[in-house]
Amino acid sequence: MISVPAEALGMLDLMEDPLFPGLDPEDRVRSIRRSIDIGRACAAQHLGCDPEADLVRAGVVIRRIEDDTVRLDHASRIQAQIFYGPDACRVELHMAELLHKQEVLTTYGLDVDLDWVARLHLAHEFYHFLEFSGGRRTGDEVGPIRVRGFLRSRPRVLRSASEIAAHTFAETVTGSPIHPKLTDYLVLVSDGTMTEEEFSHLAATAQARVQEGTSHEDL
Ligand SMILES: [Zn+2]
Repeated sequence: MISVPAEALGMLDLMEDPLFPGLDPEDRVRSIRRSIDIGRACAAQHLGCDPEADLVRAGVVIRRIEDDTVRLDHASRIQAQIFYGPDACRVELHMAELLHKQEVLTTYGLDVDLDWVARLHLAHEFYHFLEFSGGRRTGDEVGPIRVRGFLRSRPRVLRSASEIAAHTFAETVTGSPIHPKLTDYLVLVSDGTMTEEEFSHLAATAQARVQEGTSHEDL
């Protein structure tokens, strides 16, 4: 099994953020750690929860989409998604993708069933629901960050903070033996979208950026 520390996986989320290039190394690490803490604190209030039951109780419609297929040729494949509106809110689960993920995880020695994979994704979307319904984004709680090139503009909010916190929340409330972000990469490697070497290189780059921000912090 490929093992990557949670902060490095958080860095991989941050590296996908449009604001990433303008962030100082120490601000990167600080925002990742803060997002992980926020996700954990929220999970502590919902330990042992049933994300699906809680979503339904809050009036959210859960739609399991059964009639689509896994599209290996598509660059971005959606596994689960939340649609939040003032009148109605729904979560869509793409069951073919989730079944595919379950099969991949099984080949990596994880004894998980389809319900477990669905629950992991529902927990992630439940976190976003709590963000939306509470009227706060994780990025707001992480605090304004300095972005080079945007000094005179309003403080910027990191979108990736929500993802990092949602992954932490899902991992914690489900007691997952594997970090949710890593499950996505195992699927990409298994599908041949990236090789194991390419992923190892990417993870090493992320880990080096964590170390860079940490050593700055310690100075
Ligand atoms: Zn998300």
